[in-house]
Amino acid sequence: MGDKRAHKCVRTCIICGYKRDKNNLLRLGIQGKKVVLDRGKRMIGRGAYICPTTKCIERARGNYRNCLGRAFKGRPFEKIEI
Ligand SMILES: [Zn+2]
Repeated sequence: MGDKRAHKCVRTCIICGYKRDKNNLLRLGIQGKKVVLDRGKRMIGRGAYICPTTKCIERARGNYRNCLGRAFKGRPFEKIEI
């Protein structure tokens, strides 16, 4: 169990729309009322993906174009700690 490399999971960066294998993206999740980096990729619930680039990380921190609000629709957060 656990080896899913044969199955390619492509996800889209919520900031720039770039599609990559999800292993090459950072996953964000909601913990309490905070948006955090899901380092272990095992947080429950809906996640959002962003590129591991300064540009996309900075934009996510600033909730660029309300990208996080849209990604976590219906799950309000008060802080972004990524
Ligand atoms: Zn991106």
